[in-house]
Amino acid sequence: MNATPDIYLDNAASTPVDTQVLDAMLPYLGQVFGNPSSAHAHGQKARRALDVAREEVAALIGAQPEEIVFTSGGTEACNLALQGHCLAPAAAAPRLLLSAIEHDAVRRAAERLAETGMASCERVGVTAQARVDLEHYDACLKRGATLVSIMTANNDVGTIQPVAELAARAQSAGALFHTDAVQAIGKIPVKVTESGVDMMSFSAHKVYGPKGVGALYLRRSTRIAPLVQGGSQESRRRAGTENLAGIVGFGRACALASVRLERDAAHINALRERFERYLATIDNIRIHGEPAARLPGILSVSTPGLSGEALMMAMDMAGISISTGSACHSDSVDPSRTLTAMGVSPSLSRSMIRISLGRQNTAHEVEHAAQALVSAVARLRALESS
Ligand code: PLP
Repeated sequence: MNATPDIYLDNAASTPVDTQVLDAMLPYLGQVFGNPSSAHAHGQKARRALDVAREEVAALIGAQPEEIVFTSGGTEACNLALQGHCLAPAAAAPRLLLSAIEHDAVRRAAERLAETGMASCERVGVTAQARVDLEHYDACLKRGATLVSIMTANNDVGTIQPVAELAARAQSAGALFHTDAVQAIGKIPVKVTESGVDMMSFSAHKVYGPKGVGALYLRRSTRIAPLVQGGSQESRRRAGTENLAGIVGFGRACALASVRLERDAAHINALRERFERYLATIDNIRIHGEPAARLPGILSVSTPGLSGEALMMAMDMAGISISTGSACHSDSVDPSRTLTAMGVSPSLSRSMIRISLGRQNTAHEVEHAAQALVSAVARLRALESS
């Protein structure tokens, strides 16, 4: 009897920690335990590791090391960008403009600011392919915004936004521009020098690094108020003794991503195309997102009439992990906000599954998973019609 496979195709939720990252981290969970803020030799050893990691993280995105603020992850970085802007001493009457498909890390932070009267908040719509509607965007900017937050790439459907153009339009209208690049970093080239953004959030665990560590890129001239009060760590922008092992792992993950980006993208693209060839054999299937500007590894698919949950469970029973949308709403069957904003019907949204590929996946795994998906769809459709 064949053993159940163990195939992980949910890399947009989290990626496995690369063995080189783990090896780099281990000394900082053991013999190198000093506090980077201490002046003695133990502290300075830790400080040097922190500095190297900051350089590695900055290099991946074309930033200067002092423009990187380490956080507990992408969520905190997004919160720091939005709340930090509204709490900054210079913030007169903060007006936020977000896309309708932002991750909860941005959406909820903005809603909270609006609920407490600290900012007003407007949403810009997206096209059926999840690209920001430029006409609506310009109209929103004309009404006035102090901070625009638009994600670089969407977690549900993988659509990539024209960030440089969106940032330029926002800045010429007098607003700052933040982008949530959690899904994009290490998957497509992202350089702050090219996009011109003022702030950018990203996270280690989506690039084969550890969970619980991320960063906010803060262009040198950008002023925000810290959310966490305490010591003077991170140049007074985020208090608290640093998660040194996590940050060292993040640095190594970024250094690896810098050298592997093209190779990984080509490998993952080829895997996705292989998967898509199987999907093409399923009747009446819909692939979401912008085909011309999509992350290489995300395949978001709806099978009309079938529940995404049922399909995900069938795949899970077959030893294959996929998702019904973003992991953050896997406990609810609400239609994905992204698909709703794209104008997809609730029933089609509920049938959505997301397959997301990573650098560790193999052609053999994809063949096996795609065949399993084709037969699960056939089986469930047969059940539905019986
Ligand atoms: N933004 C996007 C687009 C994401 O996909 C995620 C995580 O799924 C986050 C933010 C939150 O990042 P973290 O898990 O590091 O808090």
